[in-house]
Amino acid sequence: MRVPGENFNSILALIKPQFAGMKPAVFLDRDGTLIAEKNYLCRPEDVEVFPGTGAALKRLQDAGFMLFMVSNQSGVGRGYFTLADVDRVNEHLGRELACDGVRFEKIYIAPEAPDQPSRGRKPSPQFLFDARDEFGLNLAESFMVGDKLIDLECGWNAGVKKSILVRTGYGADVEQLETEKLRHAVIVDGLASAADWIIKNHS
Ligand SMILES: [Mg+2]
Repeated sequence: MRVPGENFNSILALIKPQFAGMKPAVFLDRDGTLIAEKNYLCRPEDVEVFPGTGAALKRLQDAGFMLFMVSNQSGVGRGYFTLADVDRVNEHLGRELACDGVRFEKIYIAPEAPDQPSRGRKPSPQFLFDARDEFGLNLAESFMVGDKLIDLECGWNAGVKKSILVRTGYGADVEQLETEKLRHAVIVDGLASAADWIIKNHS
């Protein structure tokens, strides 16, 4: 006997893969991962892009990954600078990387201080879920790269394939301090090695 909804469910099962989205992405922290960590960086002229960042991102893009930047900017919530300052820094960075043919699909910023309620502040996976829903991503085939434990936790909370710690920025210190928590992480010297690892290990 057919139950109500059975037909609908069998149709849904057929089209589900398209709905689930098959596109892989790489989510990238900004400070200490793409550019030098400068403690509450807020001026475009202070942006110091790590050598090879553009080339590494371009390789990921050419391998079929959509690129997203996910950044906590608590300096806004703390009153040190404004969201407009953050935008100016990101626009500058975007222009620098565009010289290498790199383009971020979207930039996600959490401007709140750690003690303020926030929808997306890492380690929350919310922005990765937002990106999945908006761009039809397959998070299980996606990657998160960052220099802090919260970056990796954000990836784990979203169910990405792998969270990767870079030793740039705070990464080297985190590697020393958080051995136990990093047992499921991949740890590499910097973004170029992260890109190598992802390209070699994605399916
Ligand atoms: Mg960072």
